Amino acid sequence: MSTFTAPWRNMSAIRTGRSFDLGKMNLSQLWFAYLTYPTILLYFALITGAAWAAIHFSTSLWMTLIPVPVVIVVYPLAWYAIHRFILHGRWLYRNHWTASLWKRIHFDHHQDPHLLDVLFGSPLNTVPTMAIITMPIGGLIAGWSGAFCALSTALIMTCIYEFFHCIQHLAYKPRWKWVADIKQLHVLHHFHDEDGNYGITNYVPDRLFSSFYREARDRPRSKHVFNLGYDIEEAHRYPWVMDLTGSPPKDRPDGARPAASRTTPDRNRAA
Ligand SMILES: [Zn+2]
Ligand SMILES: [Zn+2]
Ligand SMILES: [Zn+2]
Repeated sequence: MSTFTAPWRNMSAIRTGRSFDLGKMNLSQLWFAYLTYPTILLYFALITGAAWAAIHFSTSLWMTLIPVPVVIVVYPLAWYAIHRFILHGRWLYRNHWTASLWKRIHFDHHQDPHLLDVLFGSPLNTVPTMAIITMPIGGLIAGWSGAFCALSTALIMTCIYEFFHCIQHLAYKPRWKWVADIKQLHVLHHFHDEDGNYGITNYVPDRLFSSFYREARDRPRSKHVFNLGYDIEEAHRYPWVMDLTGSPPKDRPDGARPAASRTTPDRNRAA
């Protein structure tokens, strides 16, 4: 640990443009950036508020807590469907009114997976989505108390999921096997074939709906892995995302070399 430097020093060196760049950070710098990030702090505040409301409206602690395991099962399935059919669908960028949303919520992350700004969802999108998916479930089980318990559970899961998603794009090799495994699977989603391994921390839905693959050699490499199908041709037909970006879609992130010259450990690092 002789090379330890306080994570809050030298923060400008780990930015690209206005965003933190996970490719330039170590684990303690990630912890610091994560725990001071406004979106995450907002989630922490909302978790506290929702938990308070769940207890405030509660008549029986057991009834209030039943939504917890239900949300733990249902929420990853909902996320899987959103990631696969909405974020990787082709229709959001084909519509003038949804193009900027699509760019913000997924295209920018696949164009440059290291940038923390676009890795975290915007709370304006994520919080209503969580509320719409989980509050009716909790409400059916235990009224307002259950609804707020369900929302709180979803917010906690989102914080955990966002942290592991950061680790998956951080230039470091996780010590825990489970973390290394999910990192490898997500790296394949970003650098090999985007039409698979949609789960970030939970790959049960991928196995259930046969979009799971273990290794690069299981599938051919997708030519849309960085642009999600929004290539130059599509950009000319549906220009809104390109106009907002100010440049044509990239075939690979800045600084990445062509796939052929990339070796496996290097690709791991590049993730
Ligand atoms: Zn990612
Ligand atoms: Zn994706
Ligand atoms: Zn990466």
